[in-house]
Amino acid sequence: VLYQTPDVSKPRYVRVNTLKLEVDSALLELGEKYMVQKDDMVPDLLILPPGCDLHNHPLVINGSVFMQGKASSMVAAALSPEPGWEVLDACSAPGNKTIHLAALMDGKGKVIACELNKDRVKRLKDTIRLSGAANIEVLHRDFLSLNPKDPAYAKVRAILLDPSCSGSGTVAQRLDHLLPSYASGHDEIDIRRLNKLAAFQRKALAHALSFPAVERVVYSTCSIHQIENEDVVNSVLALAASCGFHLASPFPLWHRRGLPVFEGAEHVLRTDPVEDKEGFFVALFVRRG
Ligand code: SAM
Repeated sequence: VLYQTPDVSKPRYVRVNTLKLEVDSALLELGEKYMVQKDDMVPDLLILPPGCDLHNHPLVINGSVFMQGKASSMVAAALSPEPGWEVLDACSAPGNKTIHLAALMDGKGKVIACELNKDRVKRLKDTIRLSGAANIEVLHRDFLSLNPKDPAYAKVRAILLDPSCSGSGTVAQRLDHLLPSYASGHDEIDIRRLNKLAAFQRKALAHALSFPAVERVVYSTCSIHQIENEDVVNSVLALAASCGFHLASPFPLWHRRGLPVFEGAEHVLRTDPVEDKEGFFVALFVRRG
């Protein structure tokens, strides 16, 4: 087991759950104890001073705010679903992004939250309960087994795909790589694991692009590996174009973009595991409805 010391050099972020509390009320309440300001990029995200611990804060306990980092909060915001839409969260547990989608939609419309793993479905349901969202339908299924032609998904206009990944963009994983026990032999296993993950990610992204009414698809990982990020996006570009999709630029003012390994890689965005605390990757496909 690896015990992490929290990184106290970087600001803390919380996302206000606007289904339960208005951003200005959260600002007032948190402002009694901390210096708080709004993030200038991600809606409903608040910045708190480094090192402050909100785990036991009443607003966290009652689901009015969620401790969610900036990089992670950029994912649902990049999809930006509109109130009243039907949206599919393809790989959803523990549900941080699912409830963010519901909040962005003002609780109007429907979020279908698909999750394969039974135990993680329980965590997903707990997260949803805490958020107070009433428009989320949980689907205990393999996303790849959903038939895009099924009338149940005929109105799905946006898909968030945040599949299982190596997690190499998170601190614990990076420290793990520094452990002395991480000796030769493991590298090979790592590459095999990455290839397996990437194969699933490519399949899942192609599947997401095949839903007939979908206008926006976000693909995200918390990995720093090109094979799980740019390579996955690159592998579906021809298919995406044949279905009428193009790569759009989420958060165009964000300076860290994709590795320049295919034409258009500047559209996708990355966050840095050290500078931005978590290494995320976000790609947004769009087509006209
Ligand atoms: N989006 C989530 C959040 O922000 O809380 C995190 C998702 S996590 C990276 C990936 C999830 O996908 C895991 O819970 C995993 O069990 C689930 N998963 C993996 N393969 C799947 C599949 N074929 N269909 C549906 N869910 C799957």
